[in-house]
Amino acid sequence: MDKEQLFRKPTKTISGVAPVSVMLPPRRCEHGACLYCPTLNAPQSYTPESPAVLRARKAEYDPYRQVKMRVETLEGMGHPTDKIELILMGGTFLSYPEDFQFEFVKRCYDALNGRDSKDINEAKKINETAKYRCTALCIETRPDVCKEHHVKNLLAWGTTRVELGVQIIDDEIYKSINRCHDVAAVTAATKRLKIAGFKIGYHLMPGLPKSNPKHDIKKIKKVFSSQDFKPDQIKIYPCQVLKGSGLVAKYYAHEFVPYSKEVAKDIILKTIKLTPNYVRIMRIMREIPPQYLIAGITNLDLRHEIEKEIREKHIKVKEIRFREIGFALQKKNYSKIKTDIKIKVTKYKASGGTEFFIEAVNKDNILFGLLRLRLEKNKLIPAMVRELHVYGPALKLGAEAKEEWQHKGLGKILMNEAEKISKKKGYSMIRVISGIGVREYYYNLGYLLDRDGIYVEKVL
Ligand code: SF4
Repeated sequence: MDKEQLFRKPTKTISGVAPVSVMLPPRRCEHGACLYCPTLNAPQSYTPESPAVLRARKAEYDPYRQVKMRVETLEGMGHPTDKIELILMGGTFLSYPEDFQFEFVKRCYDALNGRDSKDINEAKKINETAKYRCTALCIETRPDVCKEHHVKNLLAWGTTRVELGVQIIDDEIYKSINRCHDVAAVTAATKRLKIAGFKIGYHLMPGLPKSNPKHDIKKIKKVFSSQDFKPDQIKIYPCQVLKGSGLVAKYYAHEFVPYSKEVAKDIILKTIKLTPNYVRIMRIMREIPPQYLIAGITNLDLRHEIEKEIREKHIKVKEIRFREIGFALQKKNYSKIKTDIKIKVTKYKASGGTEFFIEAVNKDNILFGLLRLRLEKNKLIPAMVRELHVYGPALKLGAEAKEEWQHKGLGKILMNEAEKISKKKGYSMIRVISGIGVREYYYNLGYLLDRDGIYVEKVL
């Protein structure tokens, strides 16, 4: 394979993982509706004409049919589909009846497996070696619907990432927008999820009623600096006035004005600059069909605009996505990418534990792979690998760069580093929260499934 082939054009499936979103059937949230959230004839928080809703409606919200149809479409478009990331969206899944939750997730696996199973355990087992493997499962929830029993179920389904609707860490604002939970719930959920090994995403919403740009930035700073929060990923959705939401009346009564494009852009740019090297900005702006937008920013392309400015002004950005090899390739010719890959470790305290963010980077800080290791104070609790991610083309690039890497692979090098740190710190066991379809990779590294069938683990 020549060098050019190693750097395929970045696509939707840049890391070789195809995202498949599965929409929940419409159901109102139990606490009522948050002021900014549209309540329409669609899953809560979505509009009836959002592309994902249209697809789901066609499949009558049946999870099996939704997954099957989406995989077939992606395959038809030429995307690789052997690795699938399932994303459950629309409303608060963990508030649905428990039987429904288990059946819903099982049917998603059944669709990937191409056959029915008797229960979730059998579905997961089949998926370990299926043609379409679930390498990641993402579920969104509210911070107050994330108690111990919810976490137990999330683990039982093979979930790897949880996204929390945080919006802003401010109790006053929570009250005024009818969130019906407090900041303490965010702190508690974050801790619970981290201890269990999940990767955590926060949804942040600047521009809510009773906030202002200065206040938003102050709170975002706190999200990144306080031990209580420190998510692994964020999505930034500036507040908009959407049809079907409680904000519409406030807007027409002149009690609320959403941020202008300039103000939102400034806040987003400041947020990007504040984002630490271990956080990925997953998304900026939500895709809203124009006929449902009453007021607020329309620029879906805002991120590109901001990133262009960052490049032109040579602003230093540490955030993950900006440094990923695939993204770097959009800016630079492959021949200019340095292949002197090194391991860099960032240590930080979060939710009572110590996190080690282990990166494979080159001299320009371009990212080829990463691993998140968490150590609790109690050394009897196994060391936890919350994420291992190797960017597709990087593996081969590493092989070119160093002979040792060719034999080992970047993933193995990162895992070795995590094992080494854990052992040195006095831990006798290491665990990985692994997507069901990635378990085989860890079995080959000498890991075994724990007795509850949740994590893969190894004695150090
Ligand atoms: S919890 Fe989420 S889905 Fe439910 S009303 Fe609030 S924003 Fe909408």
